Amino acid sequence: MYVRKIVFHEHALAMHETVTRARVKQLSREKVGPMALCIACGADANEPPQAYMAHCTRCGAPSVYGRDELIVLMEMRHGKGQ
Ligand SMILES: [Zn+2]
Repeated sequence: MYVRKIVFHEHALAMHETVTRARVKQLSREKVGPMALCIACGADANEPPQAYMAHCTRCGAPSVYGRDELIVLMEMRHGKGQ
């Protein structure tokens, strides 16, 4: 778990500008459509909400995270309460 948090931190530094907390929250409310995003290029991805470092079909980076993982990622990036 400690190692995984370090990975999160490194990805957070390189997060695509279109991957915002508001966008992630929007994802989490949807029952259909993409439930994951690529944090490298910002593309929507057809991956499950629990996706973690899945490969992006657009840019090829292992940077696709599901909405559940993205919520954790965002909290680590911005801190709680923001
Ligand atoms: Zn991508």
